[in-house]
Amino acid sequence: MKTYDKLYINGAWVAPHGKGTIDVINATTEEVMGRIPEGDAKDADAAVAAARAAFDGWAATAPAERAAKLAAIGAGIKARMDDFARTITGEVGVPYKLAQRMMVGMPMGTFAAYAKLAGEFEFEKMVGNSLIVREPVGVVAAITPWNYPLHQIALKVAAALAAGCTVVLKPSEVAPINAFMLAELIHEIGLPPGVFNLVSGTGPVVGEALAASPDVDMVSFTGSTRAGKRVSEVGAATVKRIALELGGKSAAIILDDADLATAIKATVNYCYLNSGQTCAATTRMLVPESRYDEAAKIAAETAASFSVGDPMGDARLGPLISDVQRERVRGYIKKGIEEGAQLLTGGPEAPEGQPKGYFVKPTVFGRVTQDMTIAREEIFGPVLSIMTYKDDADAIRIANDSVYGLAGTVWSGNDERAQKVARRIRTGQIDINGGAFNPMAPFGGYKQSGRGREAGVYGLEEFLEYKSMQLRVPKAA
Ligand code: NAD
Repeated sequence: MKTYDKLYINGAWVAPHGKGTIDVINATTEEVMGRIPEGDAKDADAAVAAARAAFDGWAATAPAERAAKLAAIGAGIKARMDDFARTITGEVGVPYKLAQRMMVGMPMGTFAAYAKLAGEFEFEKMVGNSLIVREPVGVVAAITPWNYPLHQIALKVAAALAAGCTVVLKPSEVAPINAFMLAELIHEIGLPPGVFNLVSGTGPVVGEALAASPDVDMVSFTGSTRAGKRVSEVGAATVKRIALELGGKSAAIILDDADLATAIKATVNYCYLNSGQTCAATTRMLVPESRYDEAAKIAAETAASFSVGDPMGDARLGPLISDVQRERVRGYIKKGIEEGAQLLTGGPEAPEGQPKGYFVKPTVFGRVTQDMTIAREEIFGPVLSIMTYKDDADAIRIANDSVYGLAGTVWSGNDERAQKVARRIRTGQIDINGGAFNPMAPFGGYKQSGRGREAGVYGLEEFLEYKSMQLRVPKAA
């Protein structure tokens, strides 16, 4: 049991103004595994004031100094890999090995990457008689979700600190313990007081207080499209910069010349990653009508081969994060059946042998059509929808028929043909024939999947302003 009764504000652990507490539930045992303070708007204001006061000093530090701190945070995460991974496995339900690799390994890499980028980035350059200076945007409120909790935090906190911004982090109240562990680590490393602050609480209270605050210059938000819209509304009153990483309904387009078995197995894997609680998951699998039967068989067999169980053991699928999420996902499965999709494997019942934990059966629907709810809405569970198309143009049309535009994949025997199709998909990311995830490539969405990009140099630039100084005498080249 990890209990925190203080918030991290202005370089110290302080008693919260908000008197409530929030229990953190282990997704597998359904037992309380931790408790955190339920901060309120006053706590948010105190953290913002600390970040505001620290800004000028931090913004003026040499990038190399900031880089050294970021590198130390990355090394600190590495040294605590096991503790972070066990905690996140408990909070989220993700298999421990995956937690090590993705939930902790990626954030570790992100801090290291921004340490390097801070040192290398060209913060100034001449254009004609103008000196163009990239300056930190100011005080950043980072509001993060529960599905890859430390990864989402790292993408914002590392990039913002590298840019010279100060930060108030409001982590998801559903998986917050890893954020408190990060704050402990940052405290040990010793950033100047107020540069990094942590306020826990609910979205409508702490999140909205941050989004509304006139002293917050930017909100970097990752979460649902619903909450992202609300943050945009609240933040609009002060015209602050708002970066949004929101939901997705990504399509895997399997062209008629693709190696069907390889493409389908990879699609199911991607769809079920972190029990389907992945914003970029390929939840719509588009196959040629002529190959539907074959595709349906491979997908159902692949899905059925996923073992469900204790994420600390060998199971490939752990539970979902919460009872709320489990009920939502089961509701979608029932809706799929009601609306006439063919249930090929899985279903809304609890998986056998799992009396406890928020488990959902790995599920595949066939003959899904564009009008069905399961083809349109983000489910955030292990549910794959197979849809068929007539020709490449039809596949592109179906893939783009979504309010979302986050990611996708294209599979073909011919890389050029796949790329041609990929260029016509309105999403921020697209993997071609199993191309690997690249942590330095920009990540973010078109359409209602968001605004702005995270990761690599693109993520750093999100936290920078441009200042143009027109010089009387241009600097010598
Ligand atoms: P959520 O929107 O419920 O919560 C995300 C964060 O926003 C939490 O910290 C929450 O407390 C806060 N929040 C909620 N309501 C708010 C409000 N009115 N004002 C301010 N803050 C508010 O999302 P979630 O359930 O934690 O995460 C799942 C969602 O996140 C999915 O839709 C998923 O697709 C999305 N997501 C997107 C990306 C991406 O990069 N595009 C990555 C991960 C998750």
